[in-house]
Amino acid sequence: MASDKTLRVAVVGAGPAGVYMAAALVDQPDLTVEVDIFDRLPTPFGLLRYGVAPDHLKMKALGITLQRTLDHDNVRFFGNLELGRDFTAAELLGDYNAVVYSYGAASDKRLGIPGEELLGSMAAREFVVWYCDEPDASVGDFDLTATSAAVIGLGNVALDAARILIRDPEELSPTDVSDRVLNALRASAIKDVHIVGRRGPQHAKFTTKELRELGELAGVDVYVDPAAVADVGEIDDKVVARNVEVFREWSTRTPTGAPRRVIFHFFATPAEVLGTDRVAGLRLSLADGTTEDIDVQLVLRSAGYRGVAVDGVPFDDEAGTLTVADHRVVRPDAQVGEYACGWIKRGPTGVIGTNRSDAKETMQSVVADLPALLARETAPGSALAAAASRGAEPVTLEGWAAIDRAEIERGGPRQSARVKIANWDELLEASRAQS
Ligand SMILES: Cc1cc2nc3c(=O)[nH]c(=O)nc-3n(C[C@H](O)[C@H](O)[C@H](O)COP(=O)(O)OP(=O)(O)OC[C@H]3O[C@@H](n4cnc5c(N)ncnc54)[C@H](O)[C@@H]3O)c2cc1C
Repeated sequence: MASDKTLRVAVVGAGPAGVYMAAALVDQPDLTVEVDIFDRLPTPFGLLRYGVAPDHLKMKALGITLQRTLDHDNVRFFGNLELGRDFTAAELLGDYNAVVYSYGAASDKRLGIPGEELLGSMAAREFVVWYCDEPDASVGDFDLTATSAAVIGLGNVALDAARILIRDPEELSPTDVSDRVLNALRASAIKDVHIVGRRGPQHAKFTTKELRELGELAGVDVYVDPAAVADVGEIDDKVVARNVEVFREWSTRTPTGAPRRVIFHFFATPAEVLGTDRVAGLRLSLADGTTEDIDVQLVLRSAGYRGVAVDGVPFDDEAGTLTVADHRVVRPDAQVGEYACGWIKRGPTGVIGTNRSDAKETMQSVVADLPALLARETAPGSALAAAASRGAEPVTLEGWAAIDRAEIERGGPRQSARVKIANWDELLEASRAQS
């Protein structure tokens, strides 16, 4: 729908979904639009930067494509601005014609079993944010004194966590991990990683490429019990069939005596994390009614990510997502103007590309509401002014470019494309060094 007026849109969350949302808007013919993208972190790209594993270099390179959208003349980036802390949803709505929430899923689901709180038992997400150098990774120096770890879950996040735990750390030297992470992994005592799933190989949600990678790691033997792949029934799904083939091949392998091992446990339900003050084992409840205790000192649960509620934005606590219909945020007064895309809308599913089509769908709802959005009374600049009055110090596109340059420079001695700055203060300091 053509209009002479400029639509001003705030996008909250500069992860893949938020950036794809901005791209969908500025690429829309006949739409005059200005997009401001906000993120609580000083850096853009969300889980592409702080979730996707450092050794997945090809995927990480997607940042180059997303950057093009941030560089667009009608797009502005403001990092270090958090919805709920620096400004409210009402303030954004008072400033912009439309607000799109794309702030992802920053929490995780629990298993609800005894012992889950013990020292050494945590969400795989905590390990991920640590090895991805997220500036407020709560764990500080990750304790890798365990010789044996369990990763609970049969999805790609579990595979990533297992692979980073078991992989020769020297292979991570040409990646973006900080020296702090690299040195901690070099000192790690881990020899065995047990991957534990309630269901069988035919139910696992792995993508085959990631699964195969685990069987190709130098110095690692993979163990799969042949009984687990003996009777998997009819399989229609191509990915599942390929995964089962991979497991079948692994189940026939003769161990090479490699120094490190990955051991799969299927149809094994975690029943209790054992130990008194810290993890001393994991009790599995098996399909035949018996139990098995595995000797582990570290337990990482990968039961799925979950959105967090932000004050003033309708949240569906059961689903762990925003309350949304047709990509529009639902409020009792049916006020037009708020939308959602990405994980905070649909939950933690799909690959990065899924957020592209998802954002396009949200964009269509925005465009459908155009007359009502343009008719809204707004006070441009008021939300940023409110944030400034609370002492916020936004990191602009130039600030992010300065961080980018500093990280690329750090990569030089490691023959890496970049080495991440892991610390809040250092990130902000780097952002101020604008040329
Ligand atoms: C460990 C892990 C590994 C993955 N690996 C792959 C992979 O290899 N390949 C692949 O295709 N997909 C992968 N994915 C999936 C992919 O990362 C997601 O599909 C995608 O990142 C979801 O995009 P999003 O923008 O909805 O959320 P996010 O990427 O989480 O982005 C949300 C953004 O919102 C910001 N934010 C949060 N709260 C606020 C707030 N209150 N105010 C302002 N900003 C806020 C966050 O800082 C973040 O930048 C992986 C996911 C995980 C968890």
